Amino acid sequence: MSVRVRFAPSPTGPLHMGGVRTALYNYLFAKKHKGSFLLRIEDTDQTRYIPGAEAYIMDALTWCGLPWDEGPGKDGPYGPYRQSERKALYKQYAMQLVDGGNAYYAFDTPEELDEMRKRIEKEKSGNPQYDCRTRGEMKNSLTMPETEVKQRIESGEPFVIRVKTPEDEEVVVNDLIRGTVRVNSHLLDDKVLFKSDGMPTYHLANVVDDYLMKITHVIRGEEWLPSAPLHVLLYRYLGWSDNMPAFAHLPLLLKPDGHGKLSKRDGDRLGFPVFPLQWTDPESGSISRGYREDGYFPEAFINILALLGWNPGTEQELFSMQELIDTFSLERVGKAGARFDPDKARWFNHQYLQKKPVTDIADGFEKVLKDKGHHADRETLHQIVALVRERADFIHELWEQSDFFFEAPHDYEPGFVKKKWKGDTSALMRKLARTLETMEQFDVNSIDRVIQSFMEENALNPGKLMPGLRLALVGAGRGPDVKEIMAMIGKKEVIDRIEKAVDTLPDES
Ligand code: GLU
Repeated sequence: MSVRVRFAPSPTGPLHMGGVRTALYNYLFAKKHKGSFLLRIEDTDQTRYIPGAEAYIMDALTWCGLPWDEGPGKDGPYGPYRQSERKALYKQYAMQLVDGGNAYYAFDTPEELDEMRKRIEKEKSGNPQYDCRTRGEMKNSLTMPETEVKQRIESGEPFVIRVKTPEDEEVVVNDLIRGTVRVNSHLLDDKVLFKSDGMPTYHLANVVDDYLMKITHVIRGEEWLPSAPLHVLLYRYLGWSDNMPAFAHLPLLLKPDGHGKLSKRDGDRLGFPVFPLQWTDPESGSISRGYREDGYFPEAFINILALLGWNPGTEQELFSMQELIDTFSLERVGKAGARFDPDKARWFNHQYLQKKPVTDIADGFEKVLKDKGHHADRETLHQIVALVRERADFIHELWEQSDFFFEAPHDYEPGFVKKKWKGDTSALMRKLARTLETMEQFDVNSIDRVIQSFMEENALNPGKLMPGLRLALVGAGRGPDVKEIMAMIGKKEVIDRIEKAVDTLPDES
């Protein structure tokens, strides 16, 4: 039987990075086993629908390089893949459950439900929920005569269909990551499966679709583990136990301090993105940062996520998608929450910035330069990228590491001036400019030779000459080798900058 897995997000907002990790593990598992990766949009809860969220989810998966084999926009034999388009299909299964005595109609109003919960809370007699203990006191088809039930439905009274959980039975969930999880059914509540608006709830639609779409493995976040016993019961009640998928519940992503789940709000609070792409809230217009817009490479982002919960069992940290596909296994996914480390995330991007072909980086850098009003030919771009990328984590940071190739210093860093521009520096610089003036060739080697002999003739060591020169060219103590900078900006610009520094900076200090 070929592996079929699905990523089944609800379009209730932007996809959290934990959601992307779920998609990634599904994708890796599918590809590893030469199976199919499905995208199913679980949009049955109309009240939580957020415009733009579905498009966001698809854009995010596309940016991450996680194409789906079947799903919206990619039809397959088990479509449609949006639950709102499958609406007509669910009712028969809800009816099958009612007819089999495993589900029932309930007519309780929100006030009545509230009253029941409050009463139980006050009595402290158990979980304040609709379950095997409380259902006998509520307004439902278990407590009402059949004729009344019929009459209420026919008169258009709102109702829901609830699952009838067994009173005392051990429900067993075999989880590929957590092992055997046992829950006594009296702890489960009689979840709503179907509503009178004709829509199924998550639980019914999810199980029905996993069955109809021939899903073999359900790989999803730990927050769904409490729902798994109900799903096991539904498979049994619908007569599908033999086709029940295997379950694998992924560990939580934890905050950087390891305390608690990484939430949607943490990013803004702690200064890193929690969303793959930037998201603009359609109601408030507020913007949440995205990994893409922050300058992360999708490959780096995927690499980061891959290791948050899974480990390869080796020291290897950098993985291409193909390597992940080859090495991934659910056996090496841990049970414990995975702590997210924003510094490590930057480290990954840094590694990819070093590893990527220089032409790719140059493409990105060219755009950054354009925004700054500059242009450079391909060769220069390549040279600059090669010179400074080691000092940057992101393409946009290349500018801070290379602005001096394009612009003369606007000012001079006072601390560095104080330390390095003193006594005879101005005089020395003037003299050096005159020497450079005579040069014909202005490449790194010629510059090196001239500077060496200049130092010998004037009995200088590099510490006496080079910092002042760097200050004149860069305006600070940063940047790659001074001779590289000189060769790149050319003789005239070097001399102009030296003269400007001599004119601007004090002679004596
Ligand atoms: N629609 C659920 C979600 O938003 C899917 C959970 C599952 O994979 O079963 O996460």
